[in-house]
Amino acid sequence: MRDVLLVRFGEVHLKGQNRPYFLKVLTDNVKRAVRPLGGHVWLSDSRIYVSGTADILATAERVRRVFGVHSVSPAVEMEKDLDAIADRCAEMMRGLSGTFKVFARRSDKRFPVDSMELAKEIGHRVLEANSRLSVDVHSPEHRLNVEIRDNAYLSVGEIEAVGGMPMGTGGRAALLLSGGIDSPVAGYQLMRRGVTVCAIHFQSPPYTGELALDKVLQLSRILGEYGNGMRLYIVPFTNIQTAIHEKCPDGLGTILTRRFMMRVAERIAQKFGAQALITGESLGQVASQTMESLACTDAVVNMPVFRPLIGLDKLEITGIAEKIGTYRVSILPYEDCCTVFTPRHPVTKPRLETMADAESALDVEALVNEAVENTATEIV
Ligand code: ATP
Ligand code: MG
Repeated sequence: MRDVLLVRFGEVHLKGQNRPYFLKVLTDNVKRAVRPLGGHVWLSDSRIYVSGTADILATAERVRRVFGVHSVSPAVEMEKDLDAIADRCAEMMRGLSGTFKVFARRSDKRFPVDSMELAKEIGHRVLEANSRLSVDVHSPEHRLNVEIRDNAYLSVGEIEAVGGMPMGTGGRAALLLSGGIDSPVAGYQLMRRGVTVCAIHFQSPPYTGELALDKVLQLSRILGEYGNGMRLYIVPFTNIQTAIHEKCPDGLGTILTRRFMMRVAERIAQKFGAQALITGESLGQVASQTMESLACTDAVVNMPVFRPLIGLDKLEITGIAEKIGTYRVSILPYEDCCTVFTPRHPVTKPRLETMADAESALDVEALVNEAVENTATEIV
């Protein structure tokens, strides 16, 4: 008998012929998450198991943050002996009161007792040992899981995990990361679908300071904890913003700025081997996020631009930010480069034809090249 962490995975089940590949990546990702705690990780018969770590709850906390993991349960692994299993279950439920249900699953069909019988027998034994418990098969307060596989695995309750797809199975994308609330959440949403994400941040010193950069470093670090660290590209943006401010109509400042961000981001994304860009835009949130504005920003790049927050309200986005741990950093005060030269009356319905006209006053290619060439890289 020994303690293990039982790890369930969700959608990976659906992957048909690619299932072994997805499971291999998922198992490797669990191994990487557990490595600092020692222990042993293995895949067997539709579950991943972790054993040998000193602290099972700390292990659970790490593994529940691995994308592709659906839920985890600290469990007891023991021999497949009905009498011993029932005894152990009674023992595990001894300190509880209220209602419970036994969820029995017999995956090993050679085990002589079927799932129904197993649940019944164990239920009896638990009730005998603890008069403060009663059975409720519809909405029990406590779930007693009994799985008969290569061994028997017993656990009480399940800890919800982050879900999604294993990191590394969804391609690569580049996240435009400001210090705000939205963009870290946008990055998280794609990471959750298995995408390996790098971050690109535009800064305009001396208008933006160390504080803004420090926030972005912190946010990258938090996001990186869900994967395998994060690569952050820091782009000097002052010259572009100054040129736009001096040579283009004031009302178009924001949208022109956004177009330059996209151009530079696409070039950096290619270096990272990314196939798409990600932004934290949400329809109608500000002038640069109307449908017309988004069409103008998309027009300068060939890569698909993913905007996972497009249909979400600010409150919903904030809720996710709190859950994933980025909110407390995002709300620290700072100066974003976008706020430096904010037009007094930003155009909300820019026309694509006006863009080329406004940009004809600039050497677009040279400005983009200069920004790309002077970009710094940090691995966090
Ligand atoms: P956020 O909370 O992400 O800052 P926002 O509502 O402030 O979003 P904008 O400032 O219009 O929106 O920016 C829209 C998107 O453009 C951001 O979600 C982000 O993807 C990108 N972006 C804005 N500023 C920067 C920056 N300084 N560096 C990198 N990307 C940026
Ligand atoms: Mg912002």
